[in-house]
Amino acid sequence: METHSQILDRLRSAFRSGITVPEAFRQAQLKQLMSLMTENEDQILDALKKDLAKPKFESIIAEVDMVINELHFTIANLNSWMQPEYVSKNLATKLDDCFVRREPLGVVLIIGPWNYPLQLLLSPLIAAIGAGNCAIIKPSEVSAATDALVAELIPKYMSQDCYAVVRGAAEETKALLKNRFDHIFYTGSQAVARHILHAAADHLTPVTLELGGKCPCLIYGKVNITYAARRLAWSKFFNTGQSCVAPDFLVCSKATRDALLPALRQTLEDFYSKEPESSSDLPRIVSPRHWTRLMELLKRSKGKVVMGGESNEENKYIAPTVLVDVAEDDALMEEEIFGPFLPILTAETLEEAIALINRQEKPLALYVFSEESSVVNTVLEKSSSGGFCSNDGIIHMALPTLPFGGVGASGFGSYHGRWGFETLSHQRAVMLRGWTLERLNGLRYPPLHRGQAEL
Ligand code: NAD
Repeated sequence: METHSQILDRLRSAFRSGITVPEAFRQAQLKQLMSLMTENEDQILDALKKDLAKPKFESIIAEVDMVINELHFTIANLNSWMQPEYVSKNLATKLDDCFVRREPLGVVLIIGPWNYPLQLLLSPLIAAIGAGNCAIIKPSEVSAATDALVAELIPKYMSQDCYAVVRGAAEETKALLKNRFDHIFYTGSQAVARHILHAAADHLTPVTLELGGKCPCLIYGKVNITYAARRLAWSKFFNTGQSCVAPDFLVCSKATRDALLPALRQTLEDFYSKEPESSSDLPRIVSPRHWTRLMELLKRSKGKVVMGGESNEENKYIAPTVLVDVAEDDALMEEEIFGPFLPILTAETLEEAIALINRQEKPLALYVFSEESSVVNTVLEKSSSGGFCSNDGIIHMALPTLPFGGVGASGFGSYHGRWGFETLSHQRAVMLRGWTLERLNGLRYPPLHRGQAEL
């Protein structure tokens, strides 16, 4: 078996040969990735079912189609992104050619999480290929079936000189990180991100961190409660709450909460029936370890369960669960929930709600539900988050013209569409000078005349 440094040597020498630079090569590899996706859709859906019991429709919209759409968008726009960007000039540079040239960085390491194990691994790979880099991808070992499938398919479809899959858990990843990369693109938890940054510091490697956090959802002002309940429940319980952009907790007034609860109860019944455990539309918790973490969190919470709460360790099931009377210092508010619990906190005014969310770390996404644009605009102006969406959840991340990434503790750097291309390119400043106007240049050369010296 090849060692990490042998794999890296192979990729580095391919990169140095310049093979990844021409647009034709990048386009060909993107098209190969497209074939990988379209020719193996059934196997991909099977793997996602094994890992998380994802329903077919969820897998198609959140994994397969996200990757395919990103591929289409990149293939269609790559040529224009690769063009030099001419910049405006001043008097001293009027006769020069001044532009920004996007250049590949080298070998990029992409480390993926388990919750959307395909999309969050291959979308950054699309950016790496588009920007002309070689890449090593490291899938999450937790989503074992997808991990194995990716390791089987990538070498079949993609240039083995330029792209490789390395498998393994924390220890193998730590060993891999001892090597020098030209960029590390990491998606995962804040805790592990600290290790990634330490490892990157040894080689001064630039890093993109796509992390999580507690994404708030606010409901204030006039609102259609039925629509709000449906959109909130959909975005919260999609992938059974195991989404980095899932609304983590809700803040609203007591009156709104009381109006919302029956609508949420009806919605959950409409979505998953009276027996959610037998619904094929509710994925499972990814592993027994993650199931136990969630159940302990629920046990420690002082909130009152008003919907759900049932669980089954054998099949890693946890019901969509809603809790009220949750205080700001409750166990459920200590860390990102990353599961199907929706705590509802109350604040009587919008200002109090904004103050509450601003006492937390900056989240990856922030949601506000209201028919009043003044409410939406006030929240937008008085808060900070990686992304923002009004009157829905999650959906903003599917638009490739918007950057996807965090701010503060939810990460730094962004991708999707051109944003990923830029993140994994070097923006090289180029000034091409000719030989004219030497007489004018002469003014700056020593020996300086009195007038110059006095300037
Ligand atoms: P994780 O940090 O446990 O694992 C992510 C990757 O890091 C895996 O490939 C894993 O093998 C590797 N890893 C684990 N321990 C390591 C170590 N000590 N050193 C080096 N590598 C190590 O994250 P996870 O549990 O897979 O994912 C859940 C977290 O990811 C949540 O916090 C979620 O919010 C976040 N997330 C963020 C985004 C985003 O786009 N911002 C998307 C999905 C998930």
